[in-house]
Amino acid sequence: MVECHRCGKDIRSKNELTTALRGLSVFGYHNECYVEHVNKEPSLFFRSIRINTHTGKIVCIVAPILGAIVAFSVILASLQTRPPLLVMMVWVVVFLAAIVVPPYAQHHSYQKFESQLR
Ligand SMILES: [Zn+2]
Repeated sequence: MVECHRCGKDIRSKNELTTALRGLSVFGYHNECYVEHVNKEPSLFFRSIRINTHTGKIVCIVAPILGAIVAFSVILASLQTRPPLLVMMVWVVVFLAAIVVPPYAQHHSYQKFESQLR
């Protein structure tokens, strides 16, 4: 059984379900509850990201590729002039986040919500 994070009622089918990533947690909402929830969010920066949509799946594929391209060009650039250690550490974190977070969110969304609904 899947419970809506906003209203606490059951979500009965996949068509009613919206899953969203907030921080590193995945939450399930009714489609309408998600829209209300997003409209009441205080700022753009902390907005949750929808996962179980086509866009979410595309992001899951594109983000790691972009992350790899960025990482590769940073490596190439740093062969000529070595950037400060802090800059390199930031790039490594960005790269890892781009590779790890989208598939993690997809997997978590499926395990926790989508696999329990028809
Ligand atoms: Zn709800």
